[in-house]
Order: sequence, then C-alpha cells, then structure tokens
Amino acid sequence: MAGVKIKNGKINFCCKMNECSNSCCGPFSGVTSEISNIDKRPFDEIVLTKEDYDRLFNAGLAHFTETGYSEAMQKQYKKMALYPDGTCKAFIDGRCSINKNKPTLCKAFPFYFDMFSGLCAIECEGFNDEVWADIEKFEGCFEAAKQMYEFWIDFYTNKN
Ligand code: SF4
Ligand code: SF4
Repeated sequence: MAGVKIKNGKINFCCKMNECSNSCCGPFSGVTSEISNIDKRPFDEIVLTKEDYDRLFNAGLAHFTETGYSEAMQKQYKKMALYPDGTCKAFIDGRCSINKNKPTLCKAFPFYFDMFSGLCAIECEGFNDEVWADIEKFEGCFEAAKQMYEFWIDFYTNKN
C-alpha cells in the first residue's frame, strides 16, 4: 500500500468502493493498533451515534443493528450487527445496502482524529500515489470523524 500522504493541500486517497478487494465493510477484523483500549471493546465494532440509530430505526432498518455493552461505563450502546467474520450485515451484494442512512463512523472511514497527531487514517487500498485529491473534498469525512470524536467524549462523560 502507498501509505497516507498529504502534500500541498492534496491527499493521495480515492476510495476504491466496489473494486476494493479488502473492503472496510467486510470481512473486516477491525483496526489493529498498539493503542490500549481501556474499555476493552473490540476494534471491529461499528458504533452508532444516537442520531445514526434513530435514522436507521425510523427507516425500518433497526434489524441491521444490535446492542453492545460497555463494562467500563456500565451502559449499553448501539452498533451495526456483524457476521462472525466481521462483515457488516448491511453489506449485501458487494455494496452498502443502507447507503442513504450510512452511520457516521462509515462516513468518516478511513479518517479519524488523534489528539496528539491531528488527522490520521487507517491505511487501506484507497491510498494510491497515482491519485491526488484536494483535501477539501474530504470535508464531509472529517466532519463525521469530528462527530465520532465528540460522541466518545460524551459517552465517557455520561452525556449520551
Ligand atoms: S453500514 Fe454500510 S458502509 Fe458501514 S460497514 Fe455496513 S455496509 Fe459498510
Ligand atoms: S475506504 Fe478503503 S477499505 Fe474502505 S472501501 Fe474504500 S478503499 Fe476499500
């Protein structure tokens, strides 16, 4: 893989979508990392914000979700239901079947914000030195990453 690069306001990323041989929708073992997850929740979960879940529920798509439990906070949260190999149950015929109601985490992927390093990305096939896109094009992804960051702060301060 090419690795994540940003030069002169451009980033070497273009999602391969249906042509991705290792789709983040599955089979996907999640993000492997040296990071210690204090709450011991698995890194392959697709956690839903309240707004994500409400949108899916109102669209009659709640059967694609399930409930997780945080031992650390002793409370439940919603997440996408996965098959045992890590494939999202909404990933049907090689595509996201709930595209219009895509969860915030999926909108952000492969980007996330780290409080030390700023913009970070999970390396995937979309990073390619042959393709350079204006970073502004990813404003929606970054906004979604920000919403997830805020979701977790609220989660661990009992505001959601
Ligand atoms: S909700 Fe859609 S985009 Fe997100 S992991 Fe599932 S199939 Fe993929
Ligand atoms: S974000 Fe990356 S892993 Fe997911 S479908 Fe696009 S290229 Fe593949």
